[in-house]
Amino acid sequence: MTKPQKLIIWRMGGAVLLTAGCCLLKTTGWVRLVSFIIPYLLVGYDVLWDAVTSIVRLQPFDEKFLMSIATIGAFVTGDYTEAVAVMIFYQVGELFSDLAVGKSRRSIAKLMDIRPDCAVVLRDGQQLTVSPDEVRVGETIVVRPGERVPLDGRIISGETTLNTSALTGESLPVEAREGDAAISGSINLSGTITLVTTSSFAESTVSKILELVENASDKKARAESFITRFARIYTPCVVAAAVLLALIPPLAFGQDYSVWLSRALIFLVVSCPCALVVSVPLSFFGGIGGASRSGILIKGANYLEALSKVRTVVFDKTGTLTKGNFVVDAIHPHLVTEAQLLDIAAAAESYSVHPVAESIITAHGGHIDRARIGATTERAGMGVEAVIDGERYFVGNGKLMDLAGADWHECHLSGTTVHISRDDNYLGHIVINDQIKPNAARAVSELHELGIRHTVMLTGDNERSARAVGEAVGVDEIRSGLYPADKVAAVEELLPTANGLAFVGDGINDAPVLARADVGVAMGALGSDAAIEAADIVLMDDKPEKLPLAISISRKTMRIVKQNIVFTLAVKGVILVLSAMGLTNMWIAVFGDVGVMVIAILNSMRAMRKAE
Ligand code: ADP
Ligand code: MG
Repeated sequence: MTKPQKLIIWRMGGAVLLTAGCCLLKTTGWVRLVSFIIPYLLVGYDVLWDAVTSIVRLQPFDEKFLMSIATIGAFVTGDYTEAVAVMIFYQVGELFSDLAVGKSRRSIAKLMDIRPDCAVVLRDGQQLTVSPDEVRVGETIVVRPGERVPLDGRIISGETTLNTSALTGESLPVEAREGDAAISGSINLSGTITLVTTSSFAESTVSKILELVENASDKKARAESFITRFARIYTPCVVAAAVLLALIPPLAFGQDYSVWLSRALIFLVVSCPCALVVSVPLSFFGGIGGASRSGILIKGANYLEALSKVRTVVFDKTGTLTKGNFVVDAIHPHLVTEAQLLDIAAAAESYSVHPVAESIITAHGGHIDRARIGATTERAGMGVEAVIDGERYFVGNGKLMDLAGADWHECHLSGTTVHISRDDNYLGHIVINDQIKPNAARAVSELHELGIRHTVMLTGDNERSARAVGEAVGVDEIRSGLYPADKVAAVEELLPTANGLAFVGDGINDAPVLARADVGVAMGALGSDAAIEAADIVLMDDKPEKLPLAISISRKTMRIVKQNIVFTLAVKGVILVLSAMGLTNMWIAVFGDVGVMVIAILNSMRAMRKAE
């Protein structure tokens, strides 16, 4: 519990005791008024102050304003105890929502801490992987494709494209070469770069990104901004109605002023929209917080709302439906030995973070002398191009071989084939195989059970291995041999009839597709920083079955939001009618208002409960 929260509890306790004392003493006249004003100010001075400042800023009509008017009015009509009670209950509700918000905020922040950023720093000619806050200003760091630039710096060698969308909002990648600045938090998309740091980690832009995600609640869902707009129009209307209620019967029909004034005040208290203003954002917060405890990071309430409406799910294959842990099955050299072929492939792949690269480096197992390797370029959806010992090699799929002009041929074995050529001389291929993730098929069938109408798998891999995976997991449609740009085109083609399309991916080249879909979902731990940056939702533990879970959480949250809106408006409506007819009193109004708020908050907290 924070200091202000503790303070308000003391203030409420004090006000309750003082009020009880005042009631017992049975004082009268001015003494009685003053003795009630003391606990009233004790518990409510900040509410009154906020109401005053909002009037000064010419933006009255918030719930604090309503509360102030209603309680001051209660003093005017002589209902001193009620005036203090309304203030106390209002503060109880505020404290309650404060605690609830704090709880969900902490669980989101905790999740972000799981992803440590590290930096590869060059010291005495050695590459050391250290925590970024250990890197000093002016040191040299190396950033490979797919990695996040850990500290702000200036490029001293290499050229690449950087994705800076997290920092500038600009979605187009920018070219960067020697002499250019690289901002921490931007993602290195294509080449390996070396840079000299220009600021410490604490001052670097990357720290701000974490803040950005922590403030997920700022991205308002449509339902949420509707409530805010609603309150802005609704509150002045309520105040106007209350004024009319206090004035018309006495003026037009000669009725008793004090009766209608207190009815108008009751009306004000009941119609206070705090239950909605507090509980709707809290439900979203709860949904986001609850999801984060299941390893699902949702970057904003708007994405939660969008996810609940998804009817089409498009998957990437490698690393999403399959483990992305390829194992080398066979080496078929041509003109060179098996060992030579593997050695070339491993050297070319040594800077790549693609799952294919990792499998080849693992199979090679030995030391790779980086001094032999010159410029390397990652060709998204095809493979890599690398200069080794001064000669140009191509390592990748058939398309890359066509690009190199090599005379290549398919392998008779099933799996993903990695072809190798020196310029246009075909040197042979390595066959690797991936495994389907254990729960991929279950995830797809659960999606169908949730009413997802269409599931699609997109891949840059060849048709044979695509079909093997797609049929095993049970997707409705398979599209293979796609370049990253083809994946964007496929998603764009599906979008108009999709009724809400979610794309689930992992790799570097998925970032544009993630951004294009209605909801972009990235597999976290295995996936690259670039994909996580572009995604709206991150499945931290890479398990495909977390997607149906995320959809269930989002739908449950939306259900709770709707329940709260309907319940609050219904109860308030009934009490409003009763109070206009004079059938209620201030106590019912106070309990009605705070009671509805507490029930709505408790209902919202259900959204936070960890889903199984
Ligand atoms: P997916 O769509 O299955 O996620 P990608 O688009 O990442 O696959 O890659 C498509 C194909 O390009 C891979 O199946 C592989 O044949 C080839 N490829 C991509 N990157 C590399 C690499 N670093 N080394 C070798 N081949 C690669
Ligand atoms: Mg991929």
